[in-house]
Amino acid sequence: MDLGLHGRTYLVTGGSSGVGLATVELLLAEGARVVTCGRRADALDSAAASLGAPERLLTQVCDVRDATAVAALVAAAGEAFGGLDGVVNNAGQSRMAGLADVVAADFLDELDLKFSSVLNVLGEALPWLEKSAAASVVNVNAVLAKQPEPRLVTTSAARAGLLNLTKSMSLEYAARGVRVNSVCLGLVDTGQWRRRYESSGDERDYAAWEHDIATDRGIALGRFGRADEVAAAIAFLLSPRSSYVTGAALDVCGGVSRGLF
Ligand code: NDP
Repeated sequence: MDLGLHGRTYLVTGGSSGVGLATVELLLAEGARVVTCGRRADALDSAAASLGAPERLLTQVCDVRDATAVAALVAAAGEAFGGLDGVVNNAGQSRMAGLADVVAADFLDELDLKFSSVLNVLGEALPWLEKSAAASVVNVNAVLAKQPEPRLVTTSAARAGLLNLTKSMSLEYAARGVRVNSVCLGLVDTGQWRRRYESSGDERDYAAWEHDIATDRGIALGRFGRADEVAAAIAFLLSPRSSYVTGAALDVCGGVSRGLF
């Protein structure tokens, strides 16, 4: 199936690693132009070196919490490629902490990351998106939004807020011709989990460590997801092939989510 992404332009935040990198790679392979960002220039450079099609890829250092840097990023995208057909709000991370370890400021900090990373980008990108005939936004979220975990309390609460915000955006922006959806991830083998493994001091190899976590968390498919499996779902939601889908939250979680909704 041709996804109809060829010749279109997408902004993917956090494209130097994991889900973001896999999404950039897939969009380039589909013939799209891609703008991406991260906080570390060296990580962006090595990601760009691993990808083909330099004439269709723009990378720029940008912290998505910094509204001024985001404005410069979106302006650079418009200048380089003349418009935007979609945005993937992917940049971010989770904070491992239980209720006993956090104070109110930690919740606010986590909310700031989840909200400002989306609001800063869409505030700048919306005028471009409104000009596209096939505008689509995908917010990368987690099943934690619907199924909180005691060891991830601040992240779970902030993700629930982001899921709610995404629904509001889908309703508000529909009249402006912009679809907005979420992908809700379970456990995906990316830089985040590699860093947790390295800091765990566990003496087993990564595969054995990951397998035990997958079993402990009750992932129905029995394994972590891969970044390319998430990228495929994101590409579908960006694509005009999903033209009647907005306000949806697609679980990409191997069945770790137990809820019906
Ligand atoms: P990675 O750590 O592999 O990649 C994160 C990417 O985002 C990197 O490119 C990083 O680059 C960039 N980034 C992080 N913070 C910022 C920031 N403030 N501004 C700009 N860029 C930033 O993570 P994943 O691929 O695993 O995660 C992608 C998204 O999926 C995240 O939002 C994460 O929370 C979410 N998620 C992941 C799950 C998983 O199991 N992997 C589960 C549920 C949700 P740099 O560090 O240079 O800024």
